[in-house]
Amino acid sequence: MVHKCIIIGGGVAGLTASIYLARAGLEPLVIKGPNPSSHVMTTIDVEYFPGVPQGIEGPALLDNMFRQAELLGARFRLGTVTSVDLSKRPYTVVQGGDILRTESLIIATGSTAKYLGIPGEEQERGLRISTCAPCNGFFFRGKKVIVVGGGDSAMEEAEYLTRYASEVTIVHRRGVLRASQTFQEKVLHHPKVSLLLNRTPLEVLPVERGIAGLKVSNNETGEEETVPADGIFVAIGKAPNTQFLGGQLPTDSRGYLLVKPGTSETEIAGVFACGEAQDSRYGHLLTATGSGCAAAIDCERYLASE
Ligand code: NAP
Repeated sequence: MVHKCIIIGGGVAGLTASIYLARAGLEPLVIKGPNPSSHVMTTIDVEYFPGVPQGIEGPALLDNMFRQAELLGARFRLGTVTSVDLSKRPYTVVQGGDILRTESLIIATGSTAKYLGIPGEEQERGLRISTCAPCNGFFFRGKKVIVVGGGDSAMEEAEYLTRYASEVTIVHRRGVLRASQTFQEKVLHHPKVSLLLNRTPLEVLPVERGIAGLKVSNNETGEEETVPADGIFVAIGKAPNTQFLGGQLPTDSRGYLLVKPGTSETEIAGVFACGEAQDSRYGHLLTATGSGCAAAIDCERYLASE
């Protein structure tokens, strides 16, 4: 069987593309990875989605999109795509030992949160050191936590953690935050939150069965300090999930896919990209949904022109 379109990725970009293509009767096959879309799943309250004035939680929004796509006729497959062959049509996609063939392909694999890569971090990743407050914040009820980073994600994580933690310390390496004013205002006045600027994380300090805190360097004095904490939430940005393409499509130096300006077209005909796999600039839910819609329209036109 040759599919008309395979969409790799079941986050907001891929699901939006699948809704449009399903509605056009093209029966897209969406391959969803085991980890839910990194960004939207960790977005607590989406207050800015046009037409949803009451707001919606990120996971609920994603679930609604999934059900909408399914109702319209999109098909789903769970698993991780390990490789693709884009050298000839039909293109092939390898997943779970199966080779799937398709006339067109939409890459919507998103991005993955980065870790610090400092000593002591690896051992505690996933629980005491996390990139997802909604996933792990609950375990820090009444405890001290650190959020590392100065962007919107760090502010959002810190705000969420005030629900559980007794103290939330934001540790940022520069003297000014990168986060937008709106995100800063939401959290910086909170009585549980304090801000430590000009601190570069050096090492996660262990104690028996846990962590004692974070060793940082004070960039103004050059001295090393220990910031005590029971948990550390790392919010220092993301990296695009494009390695599985094995260099068959051009990317920038950080791995973000390059598309023809103003379109979702890659340099290979019939292969499109949307969402954070190709967006290093905005990283917003709405830009991801918009680019998913654009990819579906480009793909539909491509298939119609054949
Ligand atoms: P970001 O804006 O790139 O911020 C990353 C932060 O981590 C920066 O402050 C950076 O420091 C710091 N950092 C990077 N590497 C570091 C390292 N090795 N050690 C210590 N600190 C490090 O990433 P983001 O906050 O994840 O946001 C990404 C995009 O998503 C943005 O466009 C943002 O607006 C968007 N976003 C939207 C929402 C929403 O709409 N709900 C929520 C979250 C994020 P420097 O400032 O020194 O570079």
